Amino acid sequence: MKSLYTRVVLVFVGIVMLSLVTAFFITTWLYEERAKGIVRDMLIENGSQMIATYQSTPTAELVPLMQHLSGLSLTHTQLYNAEGVPLLAEKGTSLQVEPRDVARVLAGEKLTDLLRIDTSASHEAALPVIGLPFQVDGQPYALFVTLTRNSADEELMNSIHLLYGLILFIGSFLILIAARYLVKPIVQLTEATRRMAEGEFAVEVPIKRKDEIGILSASFNQMAKKLGMLDQMRRDFVSNVSHEIGSPLTSISGFTKALKHKEVSEENRLRYLTIIEEESERLSRLSQNLLQLSQLQQENMPLRTKTYRLDEQIRKVVIALAPHWETKQIDFDLHLEPLMIEADEDQFSQVWINLLSNSIKFTPINGTIQITAVKKGNQCIVSISDNGIGIPEEERAHIFKPFYKVDKARNSAVKGNGLGLSIVKQIIDGHRGNIRVLGEAGKGATFEVTLPQ
Ligand code: ADP
Repeated sequence: MKSLYTRVVLVFVGIVMLSLVTAFFITTWLYEERAKGIVRDMLIENGSQMIATYQSTPTAELVPLMQHLSGLSLTHTQLYNAEGVPLLAEKGTSLQVEPRDVARVLAGEKLTDLLRIDTSASHEAALPVIGLPFQVDGQPYALFVTLTRNSADEELMNSIHLLYGLILFIGSFLILIAARYLVKPIVQLTEATRRMAEGEFAVEVPIKRKDEIGILSASFNQMAKKLGMLDQMRRDFVSNVSHEIGSPLTSISGFTKALKHKEVSEENRLRYLTIIEEESERLSRLSQNLLQLSQLQQENMPLRTKTYRLDEQIRKVVIALAPHWETKQIDFDLHLEPLMIEADEDQFSQVWINLLSNSIKFTPINGTIQITAVKKGNQCIVSISDNGIGIPEEERAHIFKPFYKVDKARNSAVKGNGLGLSIVKQIIDGHRGNIRVLGEAGKGATFEVTLPQ
């Protein structure tokens, strides 16, 4: 009773039964109403003809003639004389008319709305009776004519009942099959949902229909795909984090063990300690970046926006990073228009620090970094170009993903955790801006940031 299949079948069968019963009563009622009128006209016609036949045959005896005509054309007749005595012998069907009605007809009234209850067949039926007055030699007579039940009528009724029964049977059978077809995708969806709840995201329900269930299945598949991608991202994230934490920890523990040995030279001791220091800083940078990224990804994080000079901010960041670019003797070429911008100042400091740190990191000694900031329409465009190793075309779509590094081997030497550009992208998206990478691979990279003013 609980399954949708059973419910659908029961509801359908119920509806078919209800419709059949209603249809049966309506058609019977309509048929009887119509048939009654037709039968009455026929009976009046028959009765009148019997009287006319008698009256046009002067030699005829009334009672034998009427008796003879009585059995013809499915009618049954009774004739009453002025005293209300029935004159015709009964033949199977008895036609009992109330003396009151006989008296009315004898008095000259034509009765057309009488009924007699027939119990001779399997079920009772009310059959119409008509009463016609006529006179013979000044004597009033009353002729009553009714219909005899015939077996064809019974057969017709039985056929109709059989037809209804067949409709119900065949309908129910077809519904049993059709309901399976209706319910099947829901069963498949339920099974797929169950598997998904158990952590299996590679589920796909077949879509064979374009109706609502087809649309639901398509949305389900889309959802499963997206959840699968999210799950994969989560796994990648965990494995990347573990890797990023694991390698510095391994080297820290290795060098700590080495330091425990007494025979380490002073020079090596210093070298080991420097490595331990660097690796600890790397870990602390990683934890800061992770924390920052997770904060930025929280959608309801409010922005602390204010209006400030963008060109000034970039200049300050370049100066703050001087220790890094001075050691590589990098030249800076700045073209900064005075620009006012409304944004979260702290977050944008981070953007320029990350982008410039990358440029410095990937630019060779004596290289050049060019920064331009211009206003175009109601947008600010900041572009940072370097003449470093550049980024291959096929990598450009990925570099904004967390932990993505273009060349893993290359990067371990330049020390990055692959989170810098993810943070940049997150901040720029949060300000409804845009960032893209230009430049020819091998000849330098250009990061172009577009911000609404
Ligand atoms: P990382 O901390 O490793 O630099 P980022 O997210 O900042 O991480 O950058 C992702 C990757 O994009 C880097 O590992 C590097 O391979 C590449 N990349 C970023 N900026 C530049 C650049 N200016 N020149 C060349 N490659 C770059």
